[in-house]
Amino acid sequence: MTIPRREATPHDVEIEILYCGVCHSDLHTARNEWHFTAYPCVPGHEIVGRIKRVGDHVIKFKVGDVVGVGCMVDSCRECEYCKEGLEQFCVEGNIQTYNSPDKHLGSQTFGGYSEKIVVDESFVLRIPGNLDLAATAPLLCAGITTYSPLRHWNVGPGKKVGIVGIGGLGHMGIKIAKAMGAHVVAFTTSESKFAEAMRLGADEVVLSKDPAQMEAQRGKLHFILDAVSADHDVNAFLSLLRVDGSLALVGAPEQPLPVAAFSLILGRKSFSGSLIGGIAETQEMLDFCGKHGITADVEMIGISQINEAYERLLKGDVKYRFVIDMSSLKNE
Ligand SMILES: [Zn+2]
Ligand SMILES: [Zn+2]
Repeated sequence: MTIPRREATPHDVEIEILYCGVCHSDLHTARNEWHFTAYPCVPGHEIVGRIKRVGDHVIKFKVGDVVGVGCMVDSCRECEYCKEGLEQFCVEGNIQTYNSPDKHLGSQTFGGYSEKIVVDESFVLRIPGNLDLAATAPLLCAGITTYSPLRHWNVGPGKKVGIVGIGGLGHMGIKIAKAMGAHVVAFTTSESKFAEAMRLGADEVVLSKDPAQMEAQRGKLHFILDAVSADHDVNAFLSLLRVDGSLALVGAPEQPLPVAAFSLILGRKSFSGSLIGGIAETQEMLDFCGKHGITADVEMIGISQINEAYERLLKGDVKYRFVIDMSSLKNE
């Protein structure tokens, strides 16, 4: 179908989309599993493309620049959180790249499964020149979703960090935590993922369903990034934290997770969560990944394979992110 894109305003850039990652949120939204999808819906918030046109007042970018767009395309820019660079927590709600009200056109916003997108330059990111572009696309959501909590909880040298779940988010968490200088312990329910976790940079891998292996980590971890979207026992992981340790959720299980009071009281522990990151921090993450040569492990698909990709995503059958080659859309 043909979707509307606004004419670039003086502060906008028009981007030809080259690649778009396939996030689990795309699938939830396309299938209305969160019950707020406005149709027609065009998902996609891991966008890498090339600038085709710039508005008269654009200062950060020029035609031909390779850029990225993540989960947000706007926010109020005036509230205390926007001023702090925490646009994701804007009190008016940030404008999502897809399925948010579009103040320019009056419709909903349309995401990256498309030929082009027009975005205010303030919400456009610079892509480091040394990275593979297709493999960079997932950094715009999966990358910042893991980088931001790792930074917030001061992961670095001398810290022992647990990454729970080795999927789209977890595989980025392992790579980024390792590059930050931490000792990384990956947790998986599948022995078949041990070699993979080590290849991604983990220093140790723990089979989370083996009580003896879990016991060996008890009270050892400074921080745990929990990237599991399925139901699981967080108390078992809270017991692995040191005094004052934190466990942050970035996965979103459908059902509430029961937390026993003593899991937190004994050791002054924190149970928390994290949502993507602000624009400045997203740029910081991209620059960090450029410096350390970090990208996602991806499997490229054409747009006509998207439904098949969604089905495989549901089964966890992807290492570790699908990325759509958008030139396939023009060939349809
Ligand atoms: Zn996403
Ligand atoms: Zn705001």
